Amino acid sequence: MSFDRIKEKLNILADAAKYDVSCSSSGSKRTNKEKGLGNSSGMGICHSYTEDGRCVSLLKILMTNHCIFDCAYCVTRRSNDIKRAAFKIQEVVDLTINFYRRNYIEGLFLSSGIFKDADYTMERLVAVAKKLRLEEKFNGYIHLKSIPGASDELMREAGLYADRLSVNIEIPTVSGLKLLAPEKDHKDFLKPMAKVKNEIIQYKSEKKIIKSTPKYAPAGQSTQMIVGATGETDQQILLTSAYFYKEFNLKRVYYSGYVPVIADERLPKLGTQVPMLRENRLYQTDWLMRFYGFDVREIVDKNNPNLDLEVDPKLAWALRNLHEFPVDINKADKFMLLRVPGIGVKSVSKIIQARRFRKLNWQHLAKLGIASNRAKYFITCESSEFEKRDLTAEQIRGFILQNSSSKFRKLVSPQLNVFG
Ligand code: SF4
Repeated sequence: MSFDRIKEKLNILADAAKYDVSCSSSGSKRTNKEKGLGNSSGMGICHSYTEDGRCVSLLKILMTNHCIFDCAYCVTRRSNDIKRAAFKIQEVVDLTINFYRRNYIEGLFLSSGIFKDADYTMERLVAVAKKLRLEEKFNGYIHLKSIPGASDELMREAGLYADRLSVNIEIPTVSGLKLLAPEKDHKDFLKPMAKVKNEIIQYKSEKKIIKSTPKYAPAGQSTQMIVGATGETDQQILLTSAYFYKEFNLKRVYYSGYVPVIADERLPKLGTQVPMLRENRLYQTDWLMRFYGFDVREIVDKNNPNLDLEVDPKLAWALRNLHEFPVDINKADKFMLLRVPGIGVKSVSKIIQARRFRKLNWQHLAKLGIASNRAKYFITCESSEFEKRDLTAEQIRGFILQNSSSKFRKLVSPQLNVFG
């Protein structure tokens, strides 16, 4: 196979993979052993961000962009007239190793169109990971996309070689999936997720007893949902996320604003703006659900099915629940401190630590790095410097927006009209 042909395949199959955002490599620590190649933790720059903000580079490609399915939202779908290509197993292994040796990448994110059937495709993805680990002694990061409908046996094997597995649910609602991908069955997404969850639990518990038990998908599993391809509300999206976190112990749900590249009457028109701000608000809410103790039903409900695009979801919640404020920074419990706009998880820990020794005032809070420009409307402390307690939610919103320089603010109005 000539170098030019490999390069051509790489162009086609890396371009086709770019719509998948579920490739953050967080949570894995696979250390170098047996004089193998690489170490997945702690190095690299570019492309993909971990949960803790670290940036890593991954070779992100499809095994093939041939696909037997015709999902309306996907460039790879069968009826799309595009150049097709397929890598051989050894070609992906060689590319990964060569790029890794040159320090271009720290790992591999491998997905695929569905070639022949789910098992045939999954077998090839697993074969790449297996060769990398066993023959090339590759200890870099590997994220494999699980193919919906793949057998339990293949899913079990995949987790023995990959750091992370993901099954992309793609469309957040069953009705949306029926509309845009009628050949797909919602249950085919859930089955591999359940398998991976159970294997992770089982391998972890066996490892406690038998030290030599191998790790199974040590960075867990994730999924991705496309935002704005169908008319789903944020409430529907976030309830789906909450269900996945709870039922399948997912590490992450990724939200990918729909990029209109296909003319289809079931989809937003070509030229419709990508809902970047909405995507950002969903990520913020996801964060509140995972780290701030918020239940999704507190943030979106039948009266507020969509997130407020103008202010972040924590501030929006606080403005709707002014009766819960002000909280006394010197007495409030952790649960309530975490609900104060402008005070993050780290700041809460600092406050709890610092107030053991003294009553905190505004100066102390400033020294702890707390952004009082937001928090001041929602807290009291050992000071009478700011005591405007008679403000309405609309007034507070106005003051905060006046002083806000969010890069997303200018996007607010067009974004609201995606589905007009
Ligand atoms: S099965 Fe996957 S690759 Fe194939 S058309 Fe659907 S979304 Fe695209």
